[in-house]
Amino acid sequence: VSFEPRIVAFLCNWCAYGAADQAGRARLEYPQSLLTVRVPCTGRVEPAFVLQALREGADGVLVAGCHPGDCHYVDGNLKAHARHALLVRALEQAGVEPARVRLAWAGASEAERFAQLVRDMTAELAALGPLDYAQRSLHSAFDALVTTPHRLDGLEEARRSPRAPGKPRVAFYWNASCGGCEEAVVDLGEGFADLAERVEIVLWPVALDFKRHDVEALPDGGIDVAFVNGAVRLSEQDDWAVLLRRKARTVVAFGACAHLGGVVGLGNLSEPAELLETAYRRQPTVSNPEQLLPGTRVLAAGHELTLPSLLSRALPLGEVVPVDYVIPGCPPSPAIIAAAVELLLSGERLPPPGAVLAPNASLCDSCPRKDSRPERLSIQSLARLATTQPDEATCFLAQGLVCLGPGTRQGCQPGCVEVNMPCRGCFGPLDGIPDHGAAGLSAFASLFSGSEEELSALAAALPDPAGTFWRYGYGAGLIPRRVRAQPEPARGAPEEPEA
Ligand code: SF4
Ligand code: SF4
Repeated sequence: VSFEPRIVAFLCNWCAYGAADQAGRARLEYPQSLLTVRVPCTGRVEPAFVLQALREGADGVLVAGCHPGDCHYVDGNLKAHARHALLVRALEQAGVEPARVRLAWAGASEAERFAQLVRDMTAELAALGPLDYAQRSLHSAFDALVTTPHRLDGLEEARRSPRAPGKPRVAFYWNASCGGCEEAVVDLGEGFADLAERVEIVLWPVALDFKRHDVEALPDGGIDVAFVNGAVRLSEQDDWAVLLRRKARTVVAFGACAHLGGVVGLGNLSEPAELLETAYRRQPTVSNPEQLLPGTRVLAAGHELTLPSLLSRALPLGEVVPVDYVIPGCPPSPAIIAAAVELLLSGERLPPPGAVLAPNASLCDSCPRKDSRPERLSIQSLARLATTQPDEATCFLAQGLVCLGPGTRQGCQPGCVEVNMPCRGCFGPLDGIPDHGAAGLSAFASLFSGSEEELSALAAALPDPAGTFWRYGYGAGLIPRRVRAQPEPARGAPEEPEA
């Protein structure tokens, strides 16, 4: 049986949808591979729609609308063009072939052109084969494991159990992290001394010598608040996340890595085996004569040990265990930490579970440069931070620099913009934004202005779109893992825990 690709087609109401309709009425032959979504304009098609379609099983996505110059909303199709040009580059970094996401123009009377477009795209996708994103990248054995309910049996009882008398018990733990979040706790300064007086710290590996068995000895629900930073990247971190979830009445994802995967999540743009090969064998500074890798069994001091294995991708904490609250940032700012700790220890007027403990407002609203941002902003050329000295008072976007402030939550102040650095998005998205990177890419590309060729040139001039827009949120995005089979299995491929 030959493979029949599934194509989700976003068709503009005024042109491409009319062309598809005419092609149907004229009984033109073209493959029945389209799942059509009628949209008012191609400019309405957010990159997140495209990612969602791929995630949910499309082998390709077609966005089709009016020819440039014919847009019923002036330039919606040119905005679509700019976003598309950037998005296909970011997707290519994640192993999705550019041919899978296509933007095309077809006037309402161009039925044959539309039919040919579908024939061509179907043939190209058939040659590429199924994308099967969820199967290949999301539903791994590990994902089956983390969603296995028995891992968290008794959790609700633990959360509801009466709390132990005495000072609130607090734990700090780190998973795959850089240590910056630990530093941020110490940066509370006198606030930290005050906190240390008010609570009993029962775990803090960076500073205190508690062991795993100390935590295991606590009753379930015996920790009042566990602040957990870092993404979950190793089997050992997965174990700790489950243990702390069982022992803590409240679990807080602390910092961008626990919240969204953070910088660690960018590792998901590479296959796990590629990561191991680079980090443990190829780096010129690596000395690993015994070829030890995560997951290897070793004999040390007469004991046989198994090093923790690398999971199939880095996960935000909330994908591994239920998280009660999030303290965002890379690292979280002292003001945000202090306010969140106060709120959690008071136990009063707590927001609903899952809430991010920072204002649900755009960074731009509190930015000292906001008044310099033109009402109608347009970008004709890009600047790069490495080769530009930005003006200290002007909105970065008005200077042609990427700034993710518009879609990023505020709370970092004083933050990057105060030291003449554009916002990189570490506080994450506002409530309701499904993919922070996709939203940032969309907002930035929509400011491009020029002809189709000029828009393509602008998109091509921006280095590393995935790393730019998904710097902190790739691991929590709609396409959070590379989709591409390894050409050949590298030595020491990571173990996937059995489901
Ligand atoms: S959120 Fe930032 S500071 Fe915290 S562990 Fe991750 S990279 Fe480090
Ligand atoms: S885009 Fe950046 S520089 Fe401009 S107002 Fe927003 S946060 Fe400030």
